[in-house]
Amino acid sequence: MAEKADILDFSLEELERAVEDLGQPAYRAKQIVKWLHKGVGHFDEMTDLPQAFRHTLHEQFRIGKLQILESLHSKSGYATKHLFLLSDHNIIECVVIRYKYGNTLCLSTQVGCRMGCQFCASTIGGLVRNLSAGEMLSHVIETNRLLEENGERRIGHLVLMGSGEPLDNYKNTIEFMKMVHLPAGINMSYRNITLSTCGLVPRMFELADEGLPVTLSVSLHAPNDNVRKLIMPVASAYSVVDIIKASRYYYEKTGRRITFEYTLIKDLNDREEHAEELAELIKGFPNHVNIIPLNEVEGLDFRRSPERSIQRFIQVLKSRGVEVTRRRELGFDIEGACGQLRRSFYSGSESQHYER
Ligand code: SF4
Repeated sequence: MAEKADILDFSLEELERAVEDLGQPAYRAKQIVKWLHKGVGHFDEMTDLPQAFRHTLHEQFRIGKLQILESLHSKSGYATKHLFLLSDHNIIECVVIRYKYGNTLCLSTQVGCRMGCQFCASTIGGLVRNLSAGEMLSHVIETNRLLEENGERRIGHLVLMGSGEPLDNYKNTIEFMKMVHLPAGINMSYRNITLSTCGLVPRMFELADEGLPVTLSVSLHAPNDNVRKLIMPVASAYSVVDIIKASRYYYEKTGRRITFEYTLIKDLNDREEHAEELAELIKGFPNHVNIIPLNEVEGLDFRRSPERSIQRFIQVLKSRGVEVTRRRELGFDIEGACGQLRRSFYSGSESQHYER
């Protein structure tokens, strides 16, 4: 017998159609969304639906549930990483980061990644598969449930910066963002969602035209194509100039300031002239640079820049009028290269940096 469809994968419009096909008024779809986003595990718990309809839903659909394998807390207490088991036994991780203004969830969009960035652990095993929109939504629902159990605030911000390139899983990522925004459900403002891309230029233009004013964060990591090609294979497909054009277009369409992520790697992209070149490249429209001191990945050759180089790089950018932030390091024990934890789990050697 074919497996039932996961109802979390349905957009509101699809759900309305499905509900009408089952002889119910379309508004039932919003009632279902409300329950699903609250985290109910069974249609029987949807108490404002007629009982016979709940039974029909149970016969037609399943509610995709993630199984939590492990939760790891940073020593600082600011971050918690959850490992979830997907229905096909793949493992995916997400990180809750506790800021003063609320809780942020760092979410993955793919199992693995095919972009090949040389400093990133997520790409070491290549792309395994895309996450469905419902699976991404499930992460938020399940994390909210865990936070509430713990007496904590629900997730207020989302960053799509876990494993995977969101724009390489374009359709599902767009669908997920629309779902999590539904007023009947989680009702997350688009402005509280940040999407991170390594610079898939045609998709950046497409995203700008979607009319979803999410914050765009571009993983630039180099001020020119030559340096970028040393660390990011995607640089052979799209030049930094084209990435900046697409970023500017995104700002013009959405009014959202662009963030450029720049991981500082010792002797590779951390010299003063690189900072000068970067300032020149991105001038002329609202943006800011987020400096990330490299979190070294076991098995990869890149080293973290010394503190004096980090300080100097920031100083040069500031002197050129660039707005700069430095990514807050919540302790080496939890932040950093996406995918690290999943790999250590697979290899059976849990990282010594984590405490239970
Ligand atoms: S940095 Fe992002 S885009 Fe690059 S390989 Fe890692 S997950 Fe993929």
